Amino acid sequence: MISFIGAGPGDPELITVKGQKRLAEADVVIYAGSLVNPEILSWCRPDAEIHNSASMSLEEVLAVMKRAVGEGKGVARVHTGDPSIYGAHREQMDALDEMGIAYEIVPGVSSFLAAAAAVKKEFTLPGVSQTVIITRLAGRTPVPEKESLASLAQHRASLCIFLSTHLLSEVSQELIQGGYEEDTPVAVVYKASWPDEKTVLGTLGDIAQKVSGARISRTAMIMVGRFLEGPYDRSLLYDPTFTHGYRQGKKGTEE
Ligand code: SAH
Repeated sequence: MISFIGAGPGDPELITVKGQKRLAEADVVIYAGSLVNPEILSWCRPDAEIHNSASMSLEEVLAVMKRAVGEGKGVARVHTGDPSIYGAHREQMDALDEMGIAYEIVPGVSSFLAAAAAVKKEFTLPGVSQTVIITRLAGRTPVPEKESLASLAQHRASLCIFLSTHLLSEVSQELIQGGYEEDTPVAVVYKASWPDEKTVLGTLGDIAQKVSGARISRTAMIMVGRFLEGPYDRSLLYDPTFTHGYRQGKKGTEE
């Protein structure tokens, strides 16, 4: 059996209870060493066979999985954050399906959630935005034209931009071209939940300069939107006059 496990954003305590259990049981562990905190390997058995996938190809990863399963061993395949986001996860699952090898997925805390926690903000504020967009700029992996930042910009949703801090001035330019005001708040969180976490706050107009001054280029989350600063409406869910399935409103303004 193969368990794909989301290791969380960095802090070893942000792996799920289930993920930790699977890791502690595994005979073979394959972890994405470029971003997974190696401290989580302390949950592993001392006799576990450990591979760092940073230097392996997909075929090599699959070969380790196939051999281990053939020997009746359990495999933990550990991804950073949650495997479903920029995890190169699907190609592994499809190959396992083809080989008839069973797997399960234990989700994890994605880094965009740890970044919101770091700045103590909520993405979905009434009167501001009820939508979160997860995206990136094109790198070696292209982004479909319909999903260009300039076109996503028209929605004014809360934006989480992965894998793009080294291209921050392009990010700002594209968003401004797409119609964002220069004073739109931006937060860049480097290594959210790690001991060396760092946050830089600014606006689309000045964030690129501020971040280059802080010498941050990798492993950072760019968050953009008025959810970071400014007014919002209070929630109806906890409004005393609002009635819903679990609570009778004081003045009975049922909708
Ligand atoms: N599957 C991962 C994302 C992998 S892509 C997840 O769910 O988080 C790698 C990108 O994720 C990095 O370029 C960076 O943008 C972001 N990232 C990963 N860990 C991070 C962290 N601790 N703090 C901020 N950004 C992080």
